[in-house]
Amino acid sequence: MSGLSAENLGLKSVAKVYHNLSYDELFQHENANKEGSVADSGTMMVDTGTFTGRSPKDKYFVEQSPSQEHIAWGKINKPVSAEIFDELYDDVIDYLSGKDLYVTDGYAGASADTQKSVRFITEFAWQSHFVKNMFIRPETSDLPDFAPDFRVYNASNLSNEKWEKHGLNSEVFVIFNIEKNIAIIGGTWYGGEMKKGIFTMMNYWLPLNGILSMHCSANVGKDGEVALFFGLSGTGKTTLSTDAERELIGDDEHGWDDSGVFNFEGGCYAKTIDLAQESEPEIYGAIKRDALLENVVANAEGVVDYTDKSKTENTRVSYPIEHIDNHRKSLQAGLPKNIIFLSCDAFGVLPPVSKLSKEQAMYYFLSGYTAKVAGTERGITEPVTAFSACFGEAFLPLHPTVYAELLGKKMQEHGVNAYLVNTGWVGGGYGVGKRMSIKGTRACINGILDGSINDSEFEVVPFFQLSTPKTLAGVDSELLNPRNAWADKDSYDATAEKLAAMFIENFKKYTDSNDGFDYTQAGPQL
Ligand code: ATP
Ligand code: MN
Repeated sequence: MSGLSAENLGLKSVAKVYHNLSYDELFQHENANKEGSVADSGTMMVDTGTFTGRSPKDKYFVEQSPSQEHIAWGKINKPVSAEIFDELYDDVIDYLSGKDLYVTDGYAGASADTQKSVRFITEFAWQSHFVKNMFIRPETSDLPDFAPDFRVYNASNLSNEKWEKHGLNSEVFVIFNIEKNIAIIGGTWYGGEMKKGIFTMMNYWLPLNGILSMHCSANVGKDGEVALFFGLSGTGKTTLSTDAERELIGDDEHGWDDSGVFNFEGGCYAKTIDLAQESEPEIYGAIKRDALLENVVANAEGVVDYTDKSKTENTRVSYPIEHIDNHRKSLQAGLPKNIIFLSCDAFGVLPPVSKLSKEQAMYYFLSGYTAKVAGTERGITEPVTAFSACFGEAFLPLHPTVYAELLGKKMQEHGVNAYLVNTGWVGGGYGVGKRMSIKGTRACINGILDGSINDSEFEVVPFFQLSTPKTLAGVDSELLNPRNAWADKDSYDATAEKLAAMFIENFKKYTDSNDGFDYTQAGPQL
């Protein structure tokens, strides 16, 4: 409970306000409210409701000055009028007023220069628990002076019945009002909207001040050398940055300013589908009291079956970063030495690891490629490509070339090496080959980080012109050149040619970019 008044919260009235509860208090509330059950590890498990993932089609920005001049309007960043925002804002305020609420204060950004104070107003204890895990937790002594720069009002149970009249996508809404420093959410319980919503705002604020924001994980070796891992969902950012030998800076969102790299968050959000203690011991061990499991299936004794996809394939756990023993306390480190782009190539075409030239790095960053395996219910085994600029276009309010140019400049200035790592299929596409083992991918990454990859001879693979090592400690040499790894070479060539054509088609939107270099030369050629 706290002294936060209705006025203070921008509400008409309040019942009970549970402000910045401790982990133990949240646990008690989750139990008392019957929001979840407890796993044998002592971890709270909740179901996130109808939504087990984000609703990107329901995301909007208020169209107003000055932000409207900066936003890259389109399918990802859709406009809504100030009038509609005001109407829905009033609905949200009416809805939340008079309710028992959980209010949680956290910081986004570990660097004091660009840190934002964010207040989350939610209906459920588990939502408070989620944001407490994910954002940087203020010191208790700082809480009385906490002054929010931005507020998120989460009215999960309020759906917008007037969505058609408003010209919106559905009754769900996630709307950012940059000028008012407010986001309103309705119709979805999913916590990821708050996490990636503030990430989206950081991706607006920082680059406008010349600071790069990135959808990547980061860790640092004993030598102080920093590595970044970019990649779309499911490519291995969280899995691979969590490494017993290296301090974890963060698993998903970072900034890069003149002093180096800093995490935006204070926790991690790991996928738990098929999680195995043997291949991911640190993440497995992080699932304990204070962590929060989402949409997993457990038996009556609370034993979780991580292979069970019956609620969703996107089962998750959030945990404070302290649950990873080897984490970077400051959440900050120096300038990156190596940048790794992760793609989970379900076509099995890309080499497990290749070294990129500066131009290739820009090309693959702007392409933001991965491929997913389509639902197999109807026997569809054809992978589906995803091209998402900067490996995170869904979270970028500004034009992708803003981020790409910032990255290119920094890489040039600091002589950063770039690599492309395929965490997907080898020896054939989905259905024929198999997914690269986590152990094998880690060996590729170790070769990059300890520099031993440079002792190898390189060869260039067809179509993609990617330089791949002929040998690498800990990796079966047969697998390093994907064409060699495929039994059917004709089939490899045909598949590689098809994927190359998709890259070329996707990149057409950047060929008229005006930084003086035609990056298509660095991409695949037919
Ligand atoms: P998100 O942006 O959604 O958080 P992410 O990039 O962090 O996604 P991870 O959570 O690391 O992705 O997911 C990678 C998944 O793929 C994990 O479930 C991991 O166990 C599995 N996996 C299988 N093989 C590999 C591999 N070779 N490298 C990395 N991950 C692998
Ligand atoms: Mn992740």
